[in-house]
Amino acid sequence: STFEDLNLNPNILKAIAEAGYTTPTPIQEQAIPEAMAGHDLLASAQTGTGKTAAFIIPALQCLTVPSKIQSRGPRILVLTPTRELATQVTEAAAKYSKHLNRTKVVSILGGMPYPLQNKLLSQPIDILVATPGRLIDHIERGRVDFSRLEMLILDEADRMLDMGFLEDVERISAATPPTRQTLMFSATFEGTIARLAKQLLKDPKQIQV
Ligand code: AMP
Repeated sequence: STFEDLNLNPNILKAIAEAGYTTPTPIQEQAIPEAMAGHDLLASAQTGTGKTAAFIIPALQCLTVPSKIQSRGPRILVLTPTRELATQVTEAAAKYSKHLNRTKVVSILGGMPYPLQNKLLSQPIDILVATPGRLIDHIERGRVDFSRLEMLILDEADRMLDMGFLEDVERISAATPPTRQTLMFSATFEGTIARLAKQLLKDPKQIQV
């Protein structure tokens, strides 16, 4: 199949074509239609499989429908274990959204100054990409508005747990609307990660590549 078969917004398709991609990778071919149909996802995929685009493309497609809620808060939240991964996700979001009207992507990472982050969080946001520890700090200070959050994405969830972020991930999820769609990507689905998946996902479609 091709990206053209996925019923994506033409401006997203244009950006994918300009990135030089013609054929979706297996994870993209499976995850994009299920996510666009509104399902929660439990996807097992390693780095290098094209997993970033597998969640960023449906997230951007979701943004092409205007929100019904009057708020400036993020509509999409992506949690990543590391700053490096967050930066890759932010770059991918910028790449695939370049022909959409002003998609505002903000990253909130540990080790960065608070005053700038406070300012960023007070402005309208479409996609928030964050590492859990720093995001929790801002949530506790009442600086994050999740009232219009539609999609929660956990990237490399197993690594987030390895790094001790279980409680932070649980608290962040609890701060988001229960109506949200949740996409969980992880290399493995054993032990604690399976329990977290059970806690956060509703009737998920399982994808393995
Ligand atoms: P990831 O697994 O998300 O880290 O992506 C691995 C690499 O594959 C990145 O450099 C992407 O730019 C690239 N990539 C993602 N989707 C495709 C695709 N459909 N065709 C070719 N390359 C891709």
